[in-house]
Amino acid sequence: MTQCITKDDFARMIAGAAAAIRAQHAKLSELDCAAGDGDHGATMLRAVEKLERAFAPDGPEDLKTCLENAGWSVLGVDGGASSSLLGVFFGGMADAAGIGVTEMFEAGLAALRKQTKAQPGDKTMMDALVPAIQAMRAAVDAGKSVREAMHDAVQAAQAGAEATRKLTARYGRAKFLGDKTLGHVDPGAASVSLMFEGFYRGISNSKGESGNA
Ligand code: ADP
Ligand code: MG
Repeated sequence: MTQCITKDDFARMIAGAAAAIRAQHAKLSELDCAAGDGDHGATMLRAVEKLERAFAPDGPEDLKTCLENAGWSVLGVDGGASSSLLGVFFGGMADAAGIGVTEMFEAGLAALRKQTKAQPGDKTMMDALVPAIQAMRAAVDAGKSVREAMHDAVQAAQAGAEATRKLTARYGRAKFLGDKTLGHVDPGAASVSLMFEGFYRGISNSKGESGNA
């Protein structure tokens, strides 16, 4: 089943993600101290600010244009790997804007996969993102609403992020630390998990909650 969302629905999801990141940015930087250079929380703060601006009420009404603008502006954040990858992800979502919400997330993931070969198990943001989007697809195909699908995605993202604790990093700065990253959650996976929690909170506040197109 195809389930569309409007610009306003997605703006609420983005607002939820921004709130979740703002509440935890210090923790994200702390995780990045164990796995990288300690800047991840600051980069994510800048990224969510750009996302919110791209979906501001006085901006374009068209979801596709908002996603394209969001992608470019997050790509422009001076913050290293994660902002470049997330910019590609949100920009890639534009390819399926108006088709359906799951299709949008899948299009973002397809674009991201052209930028990184990292797979789940490599201790990156992919460990949260891939299972989250798979969970959305399974839920929507089973006839669940967007809100329910997002709920399943949150659980998958949280489990995926938590599982990175037992992994050794194979991509990004953390790969140079090898086994020293064992026992620590990957910061990018933690961010993705937080963003999905925020998406869920945002869609739960949405008028189009039933999500049926
Ligand atoms: P940087 O590593 O440039 O300082 P951040 O600290 O903001 O950037 O983000 C680090 C996160 O980015 C990592 O925790 C990981 O999840 C993600 N990441 C880094 N490199 C890659 C990659 N090649 N593929 C997928 N994710 C990556
Ligand atoms: Mg970093």
